[in-house]
Amino acid sequence: MAVVIRTPQELMQWRNSASVAGKKVGFVPTMGALHHGHETLLEKARSENELLVLSIYVNSTQFNDKKDFEKYPITWDADLQMAEKNKVDVVFAPTYEVMYPDQYRYKVIETEFSKELCGKDRPGHFDGVLSVVMKLLQIVRPDRAYFGEKDFQQLTLIKGMVQAFFLPTEIIPVATVREQDGLAMSSRNVRLTAQEREKAPLIYRIITTAKTAQEARQQLEAQNWSVDYVVDKADRRFVAVRVGEVRLIDNVQI
Ligand code: AMP
Repeated sequence: MAVVIRTPQELMQWRNSASVAGKKVGFVPTMGALHHGHETLLEKARSENELLVLSIYVNSTQFNDKKDFEKYPITWDADLQMAEKNKVDVVFAPTYEVMYPDQYRYKVIETEFSKELCGKDRPGHFDGVLSVVMKLLQIVRPDRAYFGEKDFQQLTLIKGMVQAFFLPTEIIPVATVREQDGLAMSSRNVRLTAQEREKAPLIYRIITTAKTAQEARQQLEAQNWSVDYVVDKADRRFVAVRVGEVRLIDNVQI
C-alpha cells in the first residue's frame, strides 16, 4: 500500500528513516489527473529504483492563467489506484500552505531559455515550475527523477537547474507517450470537446510533416486554431496551439 504523506516535514522524516537508508529512491513529480504518459514514467522509475515516490500537486505558482488553474482536472481516487497498480511506495500530496511557507517570496529564475517559447506566452510559468521542482527535489532528495519529453522545454530547464545548483539527483528523460492517433497524452485533453478531440491529432501530424515551421503554422491556422508558436530550435520543432479553450503543446525531433 502506498503511504500518503501531506507535509514536507513528514516526507523528510520518511527519507531519513532507517527503512530508506542505503536504498535508491526514484521520484516522479506530477500534477495528478494521471494518464498512461505518467504511468510510463512510473514504470521506468519503478524498474530502476528500490523505492518510488510520486508527487501529486497542482502548483498554482506556475499558472499564469487563473481559469486554467481552476479548471485543472482532479482525479484523486483514480490517481491513487494508478499509484497502487505501479507499486508506488509514497504519494506526496502537499498543499500550497505547506509548500510555500515563504508565500513564494523566494524563487528560482532562469533568465534566458525560460523566456522563450512557453515562457513568452505564460509569463512567470517557468519560475513557478523551477521553484516547485527545486522544493520537491530538496524534500524528496531522490537519486533519480523522471520527466517527460512532452514538456521538453521544462525538462531542459530542470536539467540546467540541477547542474547549476549541484543537486545530487540524476534527471531521466522519458519519450512522449501518444494516443494511437498521435495526440500527445495530456491531462488537459479531457477538456477538449468531442469535435476538438477528433481534430487535435492534426497537431502532431502537421509538425511532423510540414517542411518548415512557417508552413506548419499556416496549416494549423487553417484549422481555425490560434497558434501561440511554432519554432524550430536545435533539432526539435516546438508548438503551442489553442484548440478552443485548451492550450496544447507538443514537440518532435526534426
Ligand atoms: P504534469 O502532471 O502534466 O505536470 O506531468 C508530470 C510529468 O509527466 C512531466 O514530467 C511531464 O512531462 C510528464 N508527462 C506528461 N504527459 C506525458 C506524455 N504524454 N508523455 C511523456 N511524459 C509525459
